[in-house]
Amino acid sequence: MSKPTSLYSVRVTLVEGTSPVTVAACPVCARTTAVPRYAIEGIEARIVVCEECGLGRFVPAPSADQIRDFYPDSYYGSTGRKFEGLVESLVRVVAARQARFLTRGLPDGARVLDVGCGRGVMLRAFADRGFEVHGTEVSAAATQGVDPRAILHITSRLADADLPEGTFDQIVLWHVFEHLPDPRETILEIRRLLKPGGKCVIAVPNFSSLQSRVTGAGWFHLDPPRHLYHFPVSALRRLFENNGLKCTSEHHFSLRQNPFGWVQSVLNCVFSLPRNGLYVLLHRSSSVEKPFSRPLRWLFRVAFILGMPVAVVLSVITAVIRQGATVTVVARRQERSPDAAQIS
Ligand SMILES: [Zn+2]
Repeated sequence: MSKPTSLYSVRVTLVEGTSPVTVAACPVCARTTAVPRYAIEGIEARIVVCEECGLGRFVPAPSADQIRDFYPDSYYGSTGRKFEGLVESLVRVVAARQARFLTRGLPDGARVLDVGCGRGVMLRAFADRGFEVHGTEVSAAATQGVDPRAILHITSRLADADLPEGTFDQIVLWHVFEHLPDPRETILEIRRLLKPGGKCVIAVPNFSSLQSRVTGAGWFHLDPPRHLYHFPVSALRRLFENNGLKCTSEHHFSLRQNPFGWVQSVLNCVFSLPRNGLYVLLHRSSSVEKPFSRPLRWLFRVAFILGMPVAVVLSVITAVIRQGATVTVVARRQERSPDAAQIS
């Protein structure tokens, strides 16, 4: 797998008419055949879809070194900020609202772990609510500007943080799980780290969503090559249930993720436009940087302003019919120990 020039603008194309290939056992259902679906520009691996559970993943899987290359320091933004001013403020307001929702019912002083905490937007929101907050992150550079109330663990694998069993009341993976190389190992470690009855909250893009199915190769939340796995919501639930976590609820609305995903995914379906151009425009670290030509910048801005209200309505409708572009699944640690050999 060679390193693409820009990790946001790589083209994705549908692979048509291919037959199933033999792959390593699926981490959800153990099936060893999958159908190639998407090819990624500049990358030898393809996204294949499990014939049984619908899990999407790269074949061949990237090495640890290749995965590290997917995350230049600039991916996280500098000094704890990632977006333009107004968008950054919105991100923080939404994070505070999410933190309220996620920690409902937790006792005062509960211990919360944010896996893949990045620049700590959620850690700050949790700390503001009075919880003892821990965060793990692969990159020390990513954690610049993290709230000093948080206890940080810099590690590439959750298991390597060496945290004691039964430590946490709640573990959150907020749009992180799809970036991790071994989802089954991670779920087993989460179960080990949770107190009995402790809560796990995982938000991921929903590979079985209407947005994913309608926009196909243009789907913003495919985010290749950083997203190593693409979970249909049924496969995510199955992975939890097979490994000692009981799913208690599923939420399909995200103001932060879903409407923007509609606008950018539809723009991505217009092949002559740069992929994820609107995201790149909003993601620039200063207003001095001028990506794209002036007419193209205006086109993206107009699409954003006109598209977002429609996208919000679409996102509400798809949430009601449980087809949200991203999904948050809440699960609790079951007392019964998972059977390590069981994959049903
Ligand atoms: Zn499978």
